[in-house]
Amino acid sequence: MGATWIHGIGGSPVYKIAQEIDSMKSDEPWECMDGFLDDPITIDENGYVLNPSLVDPISILFKNLMDFAQGKRISIGDVICAKDGNGNGSVGSFLRKGLEDYWELESRKLNGHGSWNGNGNDSWNRKLLEEAIFAMHENTQRTYTSANDLYNLDYNAESEYVMCTGEEITIAKGYSSIIESLASVLPSGVIQLGKKVCKIEWHPESEVGIIENDHDDARPVKLHFLDGSTLSADHVIVTVSLGVLKAGIHDSEDSGMLKFNPPLPDYKTEAISRLGYGVVNKLFMQLSPEFPDLDQFPFLQLVFHQSDSKVKNPKIPWWIRKTASVSPIYRNSRVLLSWFAGEEALKLETLSDEVILDEVSTTLSEFLLNSSDSHEQCNVNVTKNSSKVDLVKVLKTKWSNDPLFLGSYSYIAVGSSGCDMDTLAEPLTKSGSHPLQILFAGEATHRTHYSTTHGAYFSGIREANRLLEHYQSMGYN
Ligand SMILES: Cc1cc2nc3c(=O)[nH]c(=O)nc-3n(C[C@H](O)[C@H](O)[C@H](O)COP(=O)(O)OP(=O)(O)OC[C@H]3O[C@@H](n4cnc5c(N)ncnc54)[C@H](O)[C@@H]3O)c2cc1C
Repeated sequence: MGATWIHGIGGSPVYKIAQEIDSMKSDEPWECMDGFLDDPITIDENGYVLNPSLVDPISILFKNLMDFAQGKRISIGDVICAKDGNGNGSVGSFLRKGLEDYWELESRKLNGHGSWNGNGNDSWNRKLLEEAIFAMHENTQRTYTSANDLYNLDYNAESEYVMCTGEEITIAKGYSSIIESLASVLPSGVIQLGKKVCKIEWHPESEVGIIENDHDDARPVKLHFLDGSTLSADHVIVTVSLGVLKAGIHDSEDSGMLKFNPPLPDYKTEAISRLGYGVVNKLFMQLSPEFPDLDQFPFLQLVFHQSDSKVKNPKIPWWIRKTASVSPIYRNSRVLLSWFAGEEALKLETLSDEVILDEVSTTLSEFLLNSSDSHEQCNVNVTKNSSKVDLVKVLKTKWSNDPLFLGSYSYIAVGSSGCDMDTLAEPLTKSGSHPLQILFAGEATHRTHYSTTHGAYFSGIREANRLLEHYQSMGYN
């Protein structure tokens, strides 16, 4: 339902653990266990299979632009993409400028004869199709970053982000095997589940003198749980999501959200407010047992028309129109997976299974059943004798509505910067007789590896080391 991928095996602590505990092998099939996702078929919303000669140049353009934005390449051939011309400094404006430049160069090459009708569909000229293909890649990028709108994703921060090197792979025995392994070294009873913290009492440096009178055991931090119990501590490492922190500072006193008493200092709450935290949801769908040839269900890239025009397919609901792909979770699997981000992901959370089944099934039918000639060309002919792609079951995530997450992962929004993540990571308090009362870890506190499990892991190690160094500096071994 959540993390599945090791985003680069080089230097990934998650990969190291997975290898050590033999989690990279399984007798059962697992999500993305084969290279199936390397071989997509791209179809437009009216059922026309798009030729790779049309799709590939736009896919390459998009990849080159993102590589440039992420600092992985220093130029993009003839496409002009200087930072200076980058509108409001967002990834979205940078990408669209790159597309405009590409079109300008192409039209110069064609001496102004740029209009082209492809795939037998008179209504879609080449430029509209290219824009729709570009938008498909933008929508994939939205799910990578969790930004509802790439115009809200900061451009400068993009090149600060660090990917682990090497292959991106999934864990055969699943991510829970990693968590179980990490938890297994702790003494039993240390992890207490079902204990929601609603308040963290702490003592700013100016107040440390009164601690001894305040708590019986003289420990400076007091956790208040929702069940009424409390726990005093010398140090607390807070790892709740950025969404939970945001809700705590923005909601009213009695909302049940995590509160700090006294409230976090302004510089912290301002950083929390500025940083981006979005929602990404997964939708799993099971094909009916009657579905004919499973091996023919493709890794389907979905191309939707962008402008309001007659070629927009009225049978497809708006909340599916920013979904970039549908694919079996491995070759021949009856289970399909799609990703949703932002507003569409929020809408998905509100829909009943029946509505989802009906509307996704209609959409897939529009893509796969409409134009059998084109399909035969690309061997997507499995469904041509059916009236509808029949789905029998769905399973969706609801990360935004889960009060323990309130979203999926963080990003650097326009108006914030990596410095805000460093600010979030700063401990309270740094000096005084009771230093390091509240420490902060979790993916949103890692300036270069945010939004990932390994970023979360690194941040936990960072804060554990901070405490170790503190006690070592006091003479403890
Ligand atoms: C759909 C989806 C797909 C993803 N895919 C990948 C992937 O493939 N690879 C990857 O590397 N990353 C992926 N991620 C991101 C990854 O899951 C997160 O970056 C990572 O889990 C963050 O870990 P964390 O410890 O910072 O926070 P979280 O995982 O959010 O953990 C925070 C914990 O705090 C607890 N909590 C919250 N409020 C309270 C409270 N008041 N009292 C007590 N406890 C509380 C929560 O229950 C939770 O256990 C994905 C995330 C999502 C949502």
